Amino acid sequence: MKVTIFGTGYVGLVSGTCLADSGHQVMCMDVDADKISRLRQGQIPIYEPGLEAMVVENGKLGNLHFTSDAAEAVGFADLLFIAVGTPPDEDGSADLKYVLAVATEIGRLMDKNKTIVTKSTVPVGTSEKVRQAAQSQLDARGSSLQVSIASNPEFLKEGAAVNDFMKPDRIVVGTDSAQVRKQMVELYAPFNRNSDRMIVMDIRAAELTKYAANAMLATKISFMNEIANLAELLGADIEQVRHGIGSDPRIGYQFIYPGIGYGGSCFPKDVQALERTGREHGMQMSILQAVESVNNLQKQRLVDLIRQHYGNEINGKTFAIWGLSFKPKTDDMREAPSRVIMEALWQAGAIVQAYDPEAMQEVERLYGQRQDLRLVGTRDAALVGADALIICTEWQHFRAANFERLAETLSDKVIFDGRNVYDPDTVNEAGLTYYAIGRGASL
Ligand code: NAD
Repeated sequence: MKVTIFGTGYVGLVSGTCLADSGHQVMCMDVDADKISRLRQGQIPIYEPGLEAMVVENGKLGNLHFTSDAAEAVGFADLLFIAVGTPPDEDGSADLKYVLAVATEIGRLMDKNKTIVTKSTVPVGTSEKVRQAAQSQLDARGSSLQVSIASNPEFLKEGAAVNDFMKPDRIVVGTDSAQVRKQMVELYAPFNRNSDRMIVMDIRAAELTKYAANAMLATKISFMNEIANLAELLGADIEQVRHGIGSDPRIGYQFIYPGIGYGGSCFPKDVQALERTGREHGMQMSILQAVESVNNLQKQRLVDLIRQHYGNEINGKTFAIWGLSFKPKTDDMREAPSRVIMEALWQAGAIVQAYDPEAMQEVERLYGQRQDLRLVGTRDAALVGADALIICTEWQHFRAANFERLAETLSDKVIFDGRNVYDPDTVNEAGLTYYAIGRGASL
């Protein structure tokens, strides 16, 4: 099949590449001409394991094409996906300007009947707005062409995006058209062979499914963080509690890791947008409000512990930070808890000496050159001359550490671990003070 995807960010590029890899002919379109020209040379703008090789290979095979020309993109296929960003508006609702700009452009340029599939995360009713935006362009030029629509929210996770797309837990398709359903079944057949993972539903239900899924996951995280803070006060170790509750299959072990809050481009904005949708319909979403406020507090948690440890003596200290991205295996810094921590440390007059395997370029882009930020090439280099170590992201190669060496290197012999990576006893035996989340301060 021939498919065009508008937006070559995390979702658009992964979806387009995986569809091309299964043999479809895919055109990826982005308004960022620089991004497109780099993609044509096989340089991918994001870090996503396995993706670059697939982009290069499918480019060579002639399955994957890139353009910044909207007319070429619309003309290429009859099945057009929208995968552009839906950032939060000032009031927390999803800003649909990019989605509707694409729909308008399609309506303006199409010269055959087309199907527009919304893959971006959008509030209930948006697919209908997409149809109207395209249709109004057709009406304006007196065209009798028709636009069909579908909702196909994406559930991939950054860091495991290729695998998630290739082996999805589910493929949600919202449509009211038998013909569109047939198109989607054919498109996803290569990813749907072992068992039927396609769940076809109403368009509005599909749109809400995506928000409900993210809101549920964010709720699990905030719930666990709140229990962790209580455990801290009660002198109970949250990691033991986590094992205790996760063993119940109704609860499960996934997504109950205490930490310094969720970040990234999805959970914060999707929780806000869903809460906003409720408000627009006269409904107060109390759980979502609590999920968000617990998360905002949790991002401050390590800062509070640092203040508690140092009192007013943070000025002039050098903090080594391991891990900056909002989670491992991505370079995404959107809403990353590390940003809250770094900014608080800078405000208190401290110096940050940080290492992240993938996100440092993005950090440099965000903060530019500044005297109180040193980005270094290895985790050991981050420790040189540092007073304390902070762990913001649980990258795999931070999981084992030489604590004796850490105790020799860190002047103040203290670790603030926002991800509960280490065993407190082992850290303490090396003579280090260890603060983690919901485990009490162990000295
Ligand atoms: P992103 O910011 O990484 O990429 C969006 C891309 O769209 C950018 O490259 C931008 O230049 C491009 N764009 C903007 N306007 C355009 C236009 N008119 N025509 C063509 N391209 C245009 O965004 P993302 O993280 O890939 O997210 C896209 C959507 O998917 C969002 O709604 C998001 O909530 C949802 N989503 C994201 C993830 C994720 O893990 N990132 C997972 C599931 C769903």
